[in-house]
Amino acid sequence: MEQSEIKKPKVLLVEDNAENRDVMVHFLKKICEVDVAVDGPSAVSQAESNHYVLILMDINLGFGMNGIEATKKIRLMEKYREIPIIAVTAYAMAGDKEIFIESGCTHYISKPFTKREFTGLVEKALGLTSQN
Ligand code: MN
Repeated sequence: MEQSEIKKPKVLLVEDNAENRDVMVHFLKKICEVDVAVDGPSAVSQAESNHYVLILMDINLGFGMNGIEATKKIRLMEKYREIPIIAVTAYAMAGDKEIFIESGCTHYISKPFTKREFTGLVEKALGLTSQN
């Protein structure tokens, strides 16, 4: 296989806010191929019909299913038992981290974050961090 044909890892970004989504898609473009879901039910159905290696899950998705519920549903699928899921939150209070981990998230980051913080965590979750 030629270098140019090597596919970037395919990730799912779940975020209800258009501005946040644009920023994160921009940050992710160089690292991975990004699909976007704007609510919990879409996240679950897109996960079902694709094979993502990482999911970025906004916890507050507005009205309806939140990110914790969506994560629990996705974790029930055989193909998503082991992949990293990063919880993205607008706030993090004491005890929140435990809730994210219990629901099946493996990492979390709170907004606002810098590009470096965000891409650093994504690369770490994908196992792309260089050993130096
Ligand atoms: Mn949100």
